[in-house]
Amino acid sequence: MKVYKGKPVYKGIVLGPAVVLSKNDQVKRHRVEDAESEIRRLGEASEKAKEQLQGLYEKAVKEVGEASAAIFEVHQMMLDDEDYLDAIHNMIRTELVNAEYAVAVTGDNFAQMFANMEDDYMKARAADITDISNRIVKNLTGCEEVDFSSMEPSIIVADDLSPSETVQMDKEKILAFVTVHGSTNSHTAILARMMNIPALIGTPVNLEEIRTGMTAIVDGFRGEVIFEPSEEVSNEAAAKIREEKEKMYLLQELKGKENITLDGRKINLYANIGSVGDMAYVLENDAGGIGLFRSEFLYLGRNDFPTEEEQFQAYKQVVQTMAGKKVIIRTLDIGADKQVDYFNLEKENNPAMGYRAIRICLKQPEIFRTQLRALLRAAALGNLSVMYPMITSAEEVKQIYDIVKSVQDELERDQIPYRLPEQGIMIETPAAVMISDELAELVDFFSIGTNDLTQYTLAVDRQNERLDDFYNPHHKAILKMIQMVVDNAHKQGKWVGICGELGADMELTEKFIRMGVDELSVAPSMILKLRKAIREMCI
Ligand code: PEP
Ligand code: MG
Repeated sequence: MKVYKGKPVYKGIVLGPAVVLSKNDQVKRHRVEDAESEIRRLGEASEKAKEQLQGLYEKAVKEVGEASAAIFEVHQMMLDDEDYLDAIHNMIRTELVNAEYAVAVTGDNFAQMFANMEDDYMKARAADITDISNRIVKNLTGCEEVDFSSMEPSIIVADDLSPSETVQMDKEKILAFVTVHGSTNSHTAILARMMNIPALIGTPVNLEEIRTGMTAIVDGFRGEVIFEPSEEVSNEAAAKIREEKEKMYLLQELKGKENITLDGRKINLYANIGSVGDMAYVLENDAGGIGLFRSEFLYLGRNDFPTEEEQFQAYKQVVQTMAGKKVIIRTLDIGADKQVDYFNLEKENNPAMGYRAIRICLKQPEIFRTQLRALLRAAALGNLSVMYPMITSAEEVKQIYDIVKSVQDELERDQIPYRLPEQGIMIETPAAVMISDELAELVDFFSIGTNDLTQYTLAVDRQNERLDDFYNPHHKAILKMIQMVVDNAHKQGKWVGICGELGADMELTEKFIRMGVDELSVAPSMILKLRKAIREMCI
């Protein structure tokens, strides 16, 4: 039995087989004696990559049609690109390095080169080069990708997971996550909460000792993962799993009931989602609306921008499924830990304080306009509101409104049905808090993003796992800021919600209601638990 302690990001308990994901981004350089045999190894890995791509092409033709499948043909051709191959061969021969290292370095160099090109088509090839290089490296190292389609529901054990890796996983097949690294406030942790998946991060698992197929227990209550548990420990876990199921069952009784305290104070409980697929959790947990749809997840895990039509279909589906209940869609918040290759963002020293979210939208309005067109069109079909992230000034809001106006004019001119939705902003920078009186005059509502607000107020990088102990959203400064925002909004007759993770913190629910917070938007799995707590409260 091997037991490791980690930081739980979602409390739950599961028992099942482990699947160990290996990272190939830590390719090690080592010296080889025989360059020609290394080049032969490369040739075999590259042939295998072509076969894999052919398989993917055929599958994609059947599932999504020839046009969308063409990317796999392009990748097959790129594997024969002479410049790319010459650069790898040359490096192996002159520097006597292993093939995986030569492929990884050449892949990075070529991707960088494409990213710096003027032409948008060529720029987009950077992501393709990275993709094929990763594929060859995986074949060389023997770390193949997990085939989620044939996998039974499993516990994913990994060094770390990025948000884009997480969104691409088949949620039905994941019982829990256990990662060696990662911070409690990262988007991967948020995704785990959203998906109701017990997860442990910062767990010092020795990945060399763990094999795919080993039985494991992830206990999010104790913050523990146990590999190869004894029969007694497995039986204990099975009993706890039954007990949890029973509790969940009892919560079902609260469906359809109001979020009202014993003394009659009401609050809206909405859900946070990242994809259309999360709607099942929203309905299952009887959320009163969607308080935060992190639309940037539509942009992750793909090779190119989602088109207006793709976005429209996604927003439309959410709005129609919610059947008149409020749906707040946040415009894209790319950047920081949510990196997308085809955006070709430059490497930054301080990505959390860098080129992200609304800043990208204002600097590259063509990306923003596509999303706004889709949003305004979907707004015509239901109760949709739009929310803008990372606001720091009234000027930004005015610039946004100018762009929205011109998008409206364009839709009008083209006689495309649309509706101008309610528009709100996220309050997640100290600047926005301090001018919330001025901002409240401009917008329809505020939603407080306590994850970023904590990071910027306490000067603690939310991604840095070494700072988890310093990341304290209960800090007096944060609570005072929330009160200030609520008061300023109410003076203008505007409503305020909290959509950061703090909204689900049951230690503070009573306080938030007393402060006058109008809405809490939380992971769907938290809705009924909060409803129960609220209904037992007297303010
Ligand atoms: C926040 O910052 O609190 C928030 C809700 O946005 P995100 O976590 O996506 O940055
Ligand atoms: Mg944020």
